[in-house]
Amino acid sequence: MIRSLRLRLTLWYLAFFSLLLAAFSVFLYGLLARTLRDRLDERLSAGAETAAGLFRAELEELNGDAPAAAAETITEMRPQAILVAFFADGRFLASSSSGPVKQLEMAAARVWGQAETALVVDVPELDGHAARAATRRFTAGNVTCLAMAGQSTESIYSDLRGFRDLLFGALPLLLAVAGLGGYALATRSLAPLNAMAAQAREITSSSLDRRLAVGAAAGELRLLAASFNELLSRLDRSFETMRRFVADASHELRTPLAVIRGETDVALARDRNAAEYRETLGVVQDEARRLSRLVEDLLSLARADAGRVNLKSEILYVDDLVAECCRSVQPAAGAHNITLRCRAPEDVSFQGDEGLLRRMVLNLLDNAVRYTPAGGRVDVALRTEDRWLRIDVTDNGMGIPPQDAPHVFERFYRADKARSRNEGGFGLGLSIVKWVAEAHRGTVSLTSEPGAGSTFSVFLPR
Ligand code: ADP
Repeated sequence: MIRSLRLRLTLWYLAFFSLLLAAFSVFLYGLLARTLRDRLDERLSAGAETAAGLFRAELEELNGDAPAAAAETITEMRPQAILVAFFADGRFLASSSSGPVKQLEMAAARVWGQAETALVVDVPELDGHAARAATRRFTAGNVTCLAMAGQSTESIYSDLRGFRDLLFGALPLLLAVAGLGGYALATRSLAPLNAMAAQAREITSSSLDRRLAVGAAAGELRLLAASFNELLSRLDRSFETMRRFVADASHELRTPLAVIRGETDVALARDRNAAEYRETLGVVQDEARRLSRLVEDLLSLARADAGRVNLKSEILYVDDLVAECCRSVQPAAGAHNITLRCRAPEDVSFQGDEGLLRRMVLNLLDNAVRYTPAGGRVDVALRTEDRWLRIDVTDNGMGIPPQDAPHVFERFYRADKARSRNEGGFGLGLSIVKWVAEAHRGTVSLTSEPGAGSTFSVFLPR
């Protein structure tokens, strides 16, 4: 198996070219052979016609003395340098050949019985060579005569031999030139590919912003370069997302850790009473909870990115799930004097991962309660629409400014930074909502008006 593409292309090209050349040579050889034979036949036919004319004239002049007329005609025909022979009533009269005339007689006998008066036939052997002979039959008085003009086909064969020798001599040369040409062509065609490979080798994870120069590459290679560049762009984007994710995650982890260290440093600086230690431990406990939540969220998203989350698909009742979520945020809503309403038809079954779906609804409810001022209202509505299950979480809280709305599902994005951080948010809740919805082949959308409230709608295919 030849590994070099250049060599393979060259060999294919050479094989194709050889085949074409061989076919063309055979065709040319056949054409030449046929043309040479036709020309000989034409010359012989004209010779037979002339010999017949002369013979007839001599017969008249010599009062029907056929042998004498034949001898006379042979003398007259000598300058034409073709063999002539004459027959009368099927008998051989004379010929210009010095050798045996048996083959001529046989050829004449073959023609004699035929209706055609002018024919060209093969003579197997004449003066030591294969030959062709043209015949012309006519009647003079009451005698049937035949004039014959023949010539060896040796000249045709020697011409063909010459042509063959020329071909065999030129073929290796032609093939060598074609091979070199093919190799040069393949080298030239593959040069942009090599250049692209060299450029690609220089691109590392820290230079993913570089692109292959599409430049003057031919159509197909341009497509390859463009596809490769698109791949690079996608890689670059995901690397960037990853880098940002790690940077944001580290940043988020630093804050609670700094609080814990600060609190403990201050507490340990001198002796404290029990109440002060309790207060410090309370702060540490809060921050530790915050940290656990953050680590849990990060882990979920990292697993989701790695595609390693196996959905525990089971039949569940979404109305029960939504009602349970409402119950668990009820204390927080009550503490802020927020009215929480939950509307759901009964027995709405759905196949999905209960844990993840619960987390999705809780995240939405948690946000709605956190971003709605005291005295506000939060509504949860579950609906079945055609082939969709729809969960709307509506609040009449602060709303989300239009410039932030497209970004709230991004990781670590906070529309109201100071407030969100104070409320304990990391900007990951909605990313998880989006991921859970998409993992169930659904979507989540947002409609919001700053100052009037927001509605998050989750659509899940049933
Ligand atoms: P966080 O943990 O900060 O709440 P999320 O991903 O859940 O993170 O939300 C992203 C941002 O979207 C929040 O910081 C907040 O500014 C905004 N947001 C989310 N839900 C609401 C809502 N119901 N009302 C107003 N703003 C919201």
